[in-house]
Amino acid sequence: MSDNAESQPLIKTAAPYRGRFAPSPSGPLHFGSLVAAVGSYMQARANRGQWLVRIENIDPPREMPGATDIILRQLELFGLHWDESLLYQSDRSQAYDETLQRLADAGLSYHCNCTRKSIMARGGYYSGHCRKRDLGPDNTALRFVNHHPVAEFDDQLQGKIILPSDFANEDFIIRRRDGLYAYQLAVVVDDIDTGITEVVRGADLITPTGRQIAFFNALGSTAPDYLHLPLATHADGHKLSKQTHAPALREDQRVLELIDALRFLGQKVPNECQDGSVDEVLQWGVAHWQLDQVAKCEKIAID
Ligand code: GLU
Ligand code: ZN
Repeated sequence: MSDNAESQPLIKTAAPYRGRFAPSPSGPLHFGSLVAAVGSYMQARANRGQWLVRIENIDPPREMPGATDIILRQLELFGLHWDESLLYQSDRSQAYDETLQRLADAGLSYHCNCTRKSIMARGGYYSGHCRKRDLGPDNTALRFVNHHPVAEFDDQLQGKIILPSDFANEDFIIRRRDGLYAYQLAVVVDDIDTGITEVVRGADLITPTGRQIAFFNALGSTAPDYLHLPLATHADGHKLSKQTHAPALREDQRVLELIDALRFLGQKVPNECQDGSVDEVLQWGVAHWQLDQVAKCEKIAID
């Protein structure tokens, strides 16, 4: 090695951290979604990064009228102020269509008219039945040709995740038969376009992560890091959700709710924080955030 090469330091500049919280407006935030919001906010702020909010409203049948406004008001009330402008998936058709076109041009998508029932009858996994059938767009879903499936990834909290290979190998749906954009398509295109460096979300989304990484790769983009937080469940093990009647967030007890969320994430919040304001609790959380205190198990009962 020449002297010259030795004297050149290898400068590695990590991209600035960009995280996001991406609620679906199917109902108000509850304790489980507050935990996801607080966890992603803490990771972003503790890494001196940006924290974006994206409204995942591409599935009108599942949406509750007014939920978006309620969620945004709740985030503000809980002091979870976002950077940059909000992104609404309902404004993103052009970006999704361009990606669909790129994939079609590259021969990486095809139409499929299989029903859930016919897939079940063939063993429950989709193994490319329609890849070579050359079906037209009428009453069909669009599937992604998953040439390089991803069945393993390193989660920043849970460690190495191994997904069932039959599931990972599937040519998954990118546009639904009813014409709506599929979640996998929208989430990846949005994470690319907003330059997200780490996705922090609930552990219920561990399994689709392999698909999302495969999709990033196919689009020629580097996948972000993924970090899946433990899920708040009812005592019977069911995830807190609107369907399982998760209790409403106590808006008059915001400080206590935030402390509960931080403690759920393993942070040792001192009792004195109860006398502080919402902003003071969040500041304490960011200053003391310890990722290694967050439980690795996927589910924790709260009642
Ligand atoms: N919109 C999804 C949900 O509310 C989250 C998607 C994500 O964080 O990737 O469950
Ligand atoms: Zn098919």
